[in-house]
Amino acid sequence: MVERTTYAGFEGKVAIVTGGGSGIGRACAEDLARQGASVLVTDIRLEAAQEVVDAITDAGGTAAAMEHDTSSPGASEAAVTRAVETYGALHLAVNNAGISGSHDVAGEISVDDWLQVINVNLNGVLYGLRYQLPAIEAAGGGAIVNMASIHGTVATGLGAPAYTTSKHGVVGLTKQTAVDYGRRGVRVNAVGPAYIDTPLLAGLDDQVRQALVAAHPIGRLGRAEEVAALTTFLLSDDASFITGSYHLVDGGYTAP
Ligand code: NAD
Repeated sequence: MVERTTYAGFEGKVAIVTGGGSGIGRACAEDLARQGASVLVTDIRLEAAQEVVDAITDAGGTAAAMEHDTSSPGASEAAVTRAVETYGALHLAVNNAGISGSHDVAGEISVDDWLQVINVNLNGVLYGLRYQLPAIEAAGGGAIVNMASIHGTVATGLGAPAYTTSKHGVVGLTKQTAVDYGRRGVRVNAVGPAYIDTPLLAGLDDQVRQALVAAHPIGRLGRAEEVAALTTFLLSDDASFITGSYHLVDGGYTAP
């Protein structure tokens, strides 16, 4: 494990991390807390969020857990309200919650599958932004990272049209929001991980997993902490001139 870098600007800051109960979201929440931010860890599974909060507080950090379905606008508003009521303001957000959905191709996918993935992965990011942005502006500015994927720029070899579409949408929404908020003190960026070894990949059989490893020139899958390191940097004051961009953390996946 690499020693964590400390970045500027996290002391006294308040962050929301959605889908923070597992994988990449967990690593982001833990890293932000380590940097000195107070973190509201939200997840559709409250017990998973609480476990992360317990780990953060055991390590001396400040965090609270909340049950939150990001596909609900009302729940997304409530998450912002909870962060502001608990810690006094909101400055930072990681819109990370996401699901993979089915691998059925467009001519075979069920409309329900399509809508579920779009609701969580794309609409959920908008619902987050919709309530986070006014709160962050009211706090004097801040930064947001939206968790996209390499499939925000390339298709998968495994089907999943809703996933690929949702992640392309997240990249577009990120760029537009960054343009609209550049002069309003909120930086907004997207992160594009390749395949990261988290519970999201748990359903893949060994053969598919090996094929995925082979598709990464670096010769392995990524680690959640490697995504968190980039996310934390983008949220920090050290990234003060970076907005509206889409940053890959992909072991070379999209380079060939
Ligand atoms: P994960 O399954 O380990 O964690 C996702 C978390 O989100 C879980 O705790 C889950 O309970 C929660 N969640 C699911 N639906 C939710 C909802 N509607 N509202 C709130 N929380 C919800 O997955 P992960 O690999 O850590 O993925 C996190 C993000 O990173 C996702 O947006 C995913 O698309 C993206 N991503 C993952 C990979 C990868 O290979 N693992 C690659 C690129 C992008």
